[in-house]
Amino acid sequence: MICPSCHQTASTWVRNSFSLQGVTLAQSFKGELKCQNCGVRLRNSKYSKHFWYSLTTMAVFVFLIALFSDRLYLSFGILGLALYWAALVILSTLIFVYAVWKYAILEVVAEDELVKK
Ligand SMILES: [Zn+2]
Repeated sequence: MICPSCHQTASTWVRNSFSLQGVTLAQSFKGELKCQNCGVRLRNSKYSKHFWYSLTTMAVFVFLIALFSDRLYLSFGILGLALYWAALVILSTLIFVYAVWKYAILEVVAEDELVKK
């Protein structure tokens, strides 16, 4: 996540995940944030193709693991399988959040664009 204005990291992973990054909640839902270095307002308009690659890889991975669930159930029982899936869901969520942050493509929100609506 590189700021197109100052070419520094616009936001850290933690800041991206746990704060509004200097904008209102409504702006945050629209994918907006403020650069932590230069303070310029940015919009997360799209994602690089690496983002879609990692999502596809993750989906295939989860599908393959689902195929082996039967064997896991036989070896570890229902509790083992539940723990295993819980860990998998948490891991997938973390990877997803990381990919969203890592591969976001930012653009500067032009102030005149805001004025003329
Ligand atoms: Zn910046």
